[in-house]
Amino acid sequence: MSILGRSARRANPPEGVPLDYIEPATLGVAVELLASDEAARPLGGGTALMLLMRYGFLRPSRLVGLRRLASDLGGISVNDRHELRLGALTTLRDLELSRQVARSAPVLVEALHIVGNVRVRNAATLGGHLAHGDPHQDLPPILLAMGARAHAVGPRGSRWIPLDQLNLGYYQTALEPAELLTELALPVQPEGTQGSYTKFTAVSAEDWPALGVAVFFRRDQDRLAGVRLALSAAMDRPQRLAGVEAMLDGERPSESLFQAAAETASSAVEPMADGGGSTAYKREMIRVHVRRALEKTMRAPALRSG
Ligand SMILES: Cc1cc2nc3c(=O)[nH]c(=O)nc-3n(C[C@H](O)[C@H](O)[C@H](O)COP(=O)(O)OP(=O)(O)OC[C@H]3O[C@@H](n4cnc5c(N)ncnc54)[C@H](O)[C@@H]3O)c2cc1C
Repeated sequence: MSILGRSARRANPPEGVPLDYIEPATLGVAVELLASDEAARPLGGGTALMLLMRYGFLRPSRLVGLRRLASDLGGISVNDRHELRLGALTTLRDLELSRQVARSAPVLVEALHIVGNVRVRNAATLGGHLAHGDPHQDLPPILLAMGARAHAVGPRGSRWIPLDQLNLGYYQTALEPAELLTELALPVQPEGTQGSYTKFTAVSAEDWPALGVAVFFRRDQDRLAGVRLALSAAMDRPQRLAGVEAMLDGERPSESLFQAAAETASSAVEPMADGGGSTAYKREMIRVHVRRALEKTMRAPALRSG
């Protein structure tokens, strides 16, 4: 699914068609409403969708408001696999203020403090954040590096989508047109995990990131273990860098190792030129910030269980 719909079949309706707004009381009806109208769109917090509509990129014929679906799509809890279960309707502000999230995913909370501003975080939902497919968002690289998976429900049933399969390209996700994200499962991070998120903004501190770097690892004796490194915003989608992870795993951390990893990272991806900078500039920023992010992770507190 892309911002304009994946196919011409789901394009904007002809001009002049009135906008229908419905708030279904059940998930099943919400899916039916989306499936029965090619130009229908689900509405989470509306912070992204309303801008797309205001600037004329999208002209849905029907908005399906999700806020009455809190019993299916809301809440923060622990599932039977001991993963953190984050309902798709949870606002970014509720995530930011949750003690449970702070305990299991402190890096996520740290990043949430700097997503837009508090007005945006009060309205924006986790489901909308992920379904939007905007590569310039802060949470996807962290969730990707943490091994999260998203649950979706649509006319053909339900499925889990690992986060590394959710983003297909620029504003493009693997969601089918009438599929709704219902929740996210965040696996327990191994005891001793250290993590960090680095947001580099090219214009102002409150801006969307021009580059995001999420890093997690443990230290096994004096060597790095379980390294996960994801980049976002510089490319058309968030990506984990398996080659860089492999060159760090099992190695003793050192200035030269981190420098080499940063060089590899900057040549491993294809940055896109946009308002955050040219391709060459982004490549250079990756080189600089991956090294700094690795150093920052070395200083980060280790996660304790319980
Ligand atoms: C002023 C401003 C500053 C911002 N700064 C930042 C920033 O610094 N960092 C950052 O990461 N982001 C930033 N954002 C982006 C913000 O994080 C997103 O707009 C927000 O997360 C989208 O969530 P929403 O619930 O409002 O989505 P909506 O606008 O409701 O929806 C977005 C898209 O997702 C679809 N959708 C919504 N819910 C679901 C669902 N459950 N299942 C399937 N599809 C769904 C909608 O149909 C739409 O296509 C900023 C936004 C604004 C307006």
